[in-house]
Amino acid sequence: MIIGQIASRRDLKRLCEVCTCLRDMVTPHLYRSLVLSAPELSLENLAANLEAIRPKYWIYTRDISFRIPIHERVESRCVHHSGSGHFADEASQDEFTDSPTNDEDADESMISGCIVNPFVNLSHALNSLNFPDNQLLSFRWEVGTCIPGALFCGSDSFLGNQQHIQSITLITDGECRANEPGQNVVDLVQFKELRSLDWRGLNRYDDFESVRKCIRSHGHQIQSLTLDLLNWFRAEEIWAEGFHQQTLQRTRTPANFFSQRVLDLHPQDQNAIFSSLENLHLSAISFYYTSTEMAHAFNVGHLKSLKLRNCPGSLGFLRMVPGSSKPLNLKSLELALDINSLQRGAYLHITETICSLIHRATSLEDLYLMLPEPIDWAALTKMLSSRRHLKRLVMHHLVDRGGQHLIDGNIPCSFHLGRILQDKQLVCFGSSVLPGDLACYLQSMHPKPSCKLVHLRTSGAVLDRLMNSARPNWASTSLYTYKYGDSKLI
Ligand SMILES: [Zn+2]
Repeated sequence: MIIGQIASRRDLKRLCEVCTCLRDMVTPHLYRSLVLSAPELSLENLAANLEAIRPKYWIYTRDISFRIPIHERVESRCVHHSGSGHFADEASQDEFTDSPTNDEDADESMISGCIVNPFVNLSHALNSLNFPDNQLLSFRWEVGTCIPGALFCGSDSFLGNQQHIQSITLITDGECRANEPGQNVVDLVQFKELRSLDWRGLNRYDDFESVRKCIRSHGHQIQSLTLDLLNWFRAEEIWAEGFHQQTLQRTRTPANFFSQRVLDLHPQDQNAIFSSLENLHLSAISFYYTSTEMAHAFNVGHLKSLKLRNCPGSLGFLRMVPGSSKPLNLKSLELALDINSLQRGAYLHITETICSLIHRATSLEDLYLMLPEPIDWAALTKMLSSRRHLKRLVMHHLVDRGGQHLIDGNIPCSFHLGRILQDKQLVCFGSSVLPGDLACYLQSMHPKPSCKLVHLRTSGAVLDRLMNSARPNWASTSLYTYKYGDSKLI
């Protein structure tokens, strides 16, 4: 038995309970990756979980993660928000002025002039931990709130003596404006071995400054980069407001603040800032005005995995991938484009741009597409049928019902789609094909497709039928269950 290969924490715990000899061997593995979680957004529970772990076990920990389930979009989630929709500090100020005698609740939560610090207990728990220098290798804050100052701020902070951290993951509230500029700055420069940065929900000018400084210091060694701004236009406003406050300048906001001020790109730049980058995932980041420079900066020709979700100007960016005749290293490509992601005129080039990219991606294994019309799925599947390494294929078609009301549209079953499905390599297929159409199509095939996972999204047409029926039955057999061979298709 090789203990290091046991992934399940439950199995490790059971092994610990067998005998003291096994316990001594297994304990370091059990505490190597610690996940501190709570079933709902409760910093008190996180603090209690942290304090419940006996200090003698911390010496084994290399990876630490704070995690709370996030079912909703990361907006207005932070603990700074009160239930009424006000920020907690605003709410407590109201309470203070409206009813100065009623101070039972206020006493507990108000610290330093009516400002609530919801992180007090968690910060206290964090401060009581003393990891030896440079013990941790990865840190994750997947809570969807602002980041407590006790984590990153200063050499006395929780991570202040952990310069060997290689991977940082942060999920923050995209909308919280409770923090004043300059507070709780996330210092990523201190992590000299950083290889992976994943930050979703950047919401302050200081967050963009943290990323800018990190890229300037570590951009050349970053292998995996994920940045999600949630909404490009909102991010632009936040950055511009913070920039004007910080600099007190009336200078014009740059056309693309992210590329020009965060990445610090200049016109005609051809530098690969991320010369080691292999995995790139960008959400709601615009490529407008600097698509060529950004394609060089991200070293797209060398990426193994590329995900772009609702990034304005994505097609222009993809058309600028350097080395037009050279094969790409891409094994995984995901493109999700809403209508806002398309430049005027880009509609004409959706099929052509994606086909030429796939043509160059000779090692492509995974392809996930969500594309607005008009797109020529027959031409696309014809190109795909020549990709012999394809293992996973998901295709969704967005149809605009007017007023940018987008729904899933049907994807026609074509000869080439059949060839892809029959390929032995394919293990997963997902689509917004009408279930009945696909069931008939699959049943008519010889040889039968061998993919193990079929995932169908309810297309707009099916939804319409359900909505229009007098008594919609969402579990309707006729709509949802089709037999394929001996097993259910859905
Ligand atoms: Zn907050």
